[in-house]
Amino acid sequence: MAEIKTINILGATGSVGRSTVDLVLSQPDRFSVQAVTANENARALADMAVQLKARKAVVADPRKYQELKESLSGTGVEAAAGAEALLDAAAQPVDWTMAAIVGMAGLLPIMKAIEHSRCVAIANKEPLVAAGPLVMEAAKKHGTKLLPVDSEHNAVFQVFDHERPAGIDRIILTASGGPFRTWTREKMAAATPEQAVAHPNWSMGAKISVDSASMMNKALEVIEAHYLFAMPPEKIKVLVHPQSVIHSMVEYSDGSVLAQLGAPDMRTPIAHALAWPDRMKTSGQRLDWAKLKHLDFEDLDDVRFPAVDLAYQCLNNGAAACIAFNAANEVAVDAFLSRRLGFSGIIEAIRQTLRQAGCSSLKNLEEVIAFDATVRDITKSYISRDAA
Ligand code: NDP
Repeated sequence: MAEIKTINILGATGSVGRSTVDLVLSQPDRFSVQAVTANENARALADMAVQLKARKAVVADPRKYQELKESLSGTGVEAAAGAEALLDAAAQPVDWTMAAIVGMAGLLPIMKAIEHSRCVAIANKEPLVAAGPLVMEAAKKHGTKLLPVDSEHNAVFQVFDHERPAGIDRIILTASGGPFRTWTREKMAAATPEQAVAHPNWSMGAKISVDSASMMNKALEVIEAHYLFAMPPEKIKVLVHPQSVIHSMVEYSDGSVLAQLGAPDMRTPIAHALAWPDRMKTSGQRLDWAKLKHLDFEDLDDVRFPAVDLAYQCLNNGAAACIAFNAANEVAVDAFLSRRLGFSGIIEAIRQTLRQAGCSSLKNLEEVIAFDATVRDITKSYISRDAA
């Protein structure tokens, strides 16, 4: 019988968070939940905390404290709210933390989790994109194992020769191509938020769904892979694979290619990270080989989807460019989802921001956070001034 793992789930009410909660509830004797967190979804968080028998539930938004406290009254689960309480939850010493907050809001909680958890499962890619060197350095310093949850990076992690990386020629990140894979630029320019979030293969939160439609998700993933696997940008390739069955591949110097395959279901990479280094039985969808018939591949069209190209440019321009790239995208996606910006305005806002943001040299977390805030102001004023 495996030992009981103590765990924290940051961003428990989101798409990745809920799948994590389901997996934990499928084998409740294996896990002991310390803290679960959300931003504002107090009622749903309270329900989860009770089901999971968590010790503590935290909402980042202090206005939701009363609702959380009332929902947890008489249950024995402690309620807390606010930015400090969120960091305190992330600092609970545990065996395993799921980092599934969306966006840069997850940066400080991830840094806390790295200090106090033995393993941190990272779905929340934006902090890695913006502060990759600091995140990787902290994991090394504290001896914390980082477990990639993004399906592509989890796939690479499973087939990567961690002992002998020198034998690796390249990482091939697959991309479904998103809902607009076959759309013209003109048609994309008029795309609505509803169309952008309607992903053909995956059911995900709104921000990552829009990122998948613009291919910004793949662009962020190139930067994420660069940091997670210490691979130079020229050894990371993106390949469109519409079925999302091969989740990514590693090509070795002798021509061997190792791939990880599975049904497009986030429960598989989450379960891999949750049980690591063991495996856990899940009831998720399995590949039906006879029905699969064929797997298709195509090169990415950089003209219709310029985001991935921009990611390589940012990697070559240094860490500050990666911060600006991510921050401008978060602001632009928010504006698109609230209909203040058209779909093609997202990439234009990122380009304009990159031109204006400059290249600071950033030494620590405070400088990263300050630069991120400056960049967000640049994007916001571009959107309200030029793109309205
Ligand atoms: P969701 O939007 O579904 O969920 C986000 C979670 O973060 C919610 O629990 C939300 O709480 C919480 N949250 C949002 N803002 C804040 C904040 N300011 N402070 C604290 N908590 C906050 O996102 P996803 O689950 O789709 O994605 C989470 C991360 O995982 C993203 O970085 C995404 O790129 C990555 N990812 C997601 C995949 C997917 O299949 N969804 C696949 C691979 C990676 P509340 O509910 O209260 O708003």
